[in-house]
Amino acid sequence: MTTSAEAVVERIIRDSPLAEQINRAHDFHCQICGDRLTLHRGFYAEGAHIRPLGKPHNGPDEPGNLLCLCPNHHVLFDRGMITIQADLTVMDTASGNSLGHLRVIQNHETNQDHLDYHREIIAKQS
Ligand SMILES: [Zn+2]
Repeated sequence: MTTSAEAVVERIIRDSPLAEQINRAHDFHCQICGDRLTLHRGFYAEGAHIRPLGKPHNGPDEPGNLLCLCPNHHVLFDRGMITIQADLTVMDTASGNSLGHLRVIQNHETNQDHLDYHREIIAKQS
């Protein structure tokens, strides 16, 4: 059985150097809600792949396929409870309501093909 402490460690270690770089560029603020977690060692955010890595989705580990998210929004996004429209409006899948606009910064562009894939494949099979 995995303890919750082990689960937390796994999540932190899983973030690639690229994800860490993206999180730093966003100063660890979630691109959906703007929250930033403060831990003893510093700020914390998660690098969320829009098109998942590995089979069967084979998403790339590149900046355009990454979002800087808080843990709650990372889970909701991965499970397809949240999608992002082409104009970067964040949508709540269950209600169909807008949750506002994705928070963006200069020098980190979100790839539209990966957002399409997330809406068409991930959100519909989750
Ligand atoms: Zn968030």
